[in-house]
Amino acid sequence: MSERAVPGGGSGSAGVSPRAQGGGARTVPLRVRSIVNPVTIGRRTGERDSPHPSRTEPAHRRFGFTHTLNPYRGCVFACRYCYARYTHEWLGLDGDGDFDQRIHLKEDITEVLRRDLGRLRRRGRGGDPIGAIAFGTATDPYQPVEAEYGLTRACLEVFAEEEGWSLELTTKSTLIARDIELLRRVARRNEVLIHVTVTTVDRALARILEPGAPSPRARIETIASLTAAGLTVEPFVAPLIPGINDATEALDQLFRELKEVGARRVIGEALFLRSPTREVFLRSLQESFPSLVTEYRRRFAESAFLSPVDAERLRARVERLRVAHGLLGGRGEDARARSPRRGAPRTLPRRPPPRGESTGPEQLGLIF
Ligand code: SF4
Repeated sequence: MSERAVPGGGSGSAGVSPRAQGGGARTVPLRVRSIVNPVTIGRRTGERDSPHPSRTEPAHRRFGFTHTLNPYRGCVFACRYCYARYTHEWLGLDGDGDFDQRIHLKEDITEVLRRDLGRLRRRGRGGDPIGAIAFGTATDPYQPVEAEYGLTRACLEVFAEEEGWSLELTTKSTLIARDIELLRRVARRNEVLIHVTVTTVDRALARILEPGAPSPRARIETIASLTAAGLTVEPFVAPLIPGINDATEALDQLFRELKEVGARRVIGEALFLRSPTREVFLRSLQESFPSLVTEYRRRFAESAFLSPVDAERLRARVERLRVAHGLLGGRGEDARARSPRRGAPRTLPRRPPPRGESTGPEQLGLIF
């Protein structure tokens, strides 16, 4: 692979903005030693304010998955709140424009994946906790480059030959519908759980928050297609951003629409802001919601997370709406009370991120 422009017109789906077609972005090959990486959670070095109790808490208790798989680095969907922006800094790039415009394609992905799965299987037999493997914790696995390069599809083809794995895929993209038959094939001998993220039904607001992503309507229709095909979808309503997308009436409409297209569970997550996302988000706020800037500077002055009081208020609102619409929370909540699929719960090994790898969503915020 060599560096080149992202081809336009990739996803071919209604409701996809020109930016979501990858306009202006470039792809860059990236050699990696592993593609399936253990989740590390808790504080980043020097931080005191993480809501997670410690960095060695078993990951499955919090998220329901223990490993991540990101075929790409960077994401043209360019969400202003995207916590994964920091992953580009590991490559010596910035988490602002570079994250949206330089999309790294992991090379030799199927060979690396097969090797990783062999190693994981051996570790599982040795007692290491192997929970679900989550696709798309630091990039959208179905962003437009996937239409041409097919790295996510290639990984799923590997899992279609396997059995006994538990997979989660998170996306905002309509392109996942291309793989419905493949996902069904994978799901015959493995667990497959899909999260489609919808933060609002307001198209104009979505354009501000997620300028490159497909419209809310297109995403909700995609959920309908996936559930109609018998696949399990647990939509993410995340992040919830105080004063912007968290109004009860707006969430009520969104939950209703998600229920109508077959969702049985809905997962919320509170906004959290760390550098460089914090700077990107505040700049966007200045442009689109200037009256909220002072409040946000105050809210996030000393912590990357909402205050416990604000977070609890959001959690309670989401729970009330779930009850009103007959929806449940995510299976990750259930997972906190159960052991992983193989082996006894233990703490996960901590290691520094080698070049080209992501240690996964150690930055995930408050999920409810
Ligand atoms: S779709 Fe996900 S990975 Fe891509 S920019 Fe948005 S939040 Fe980040």
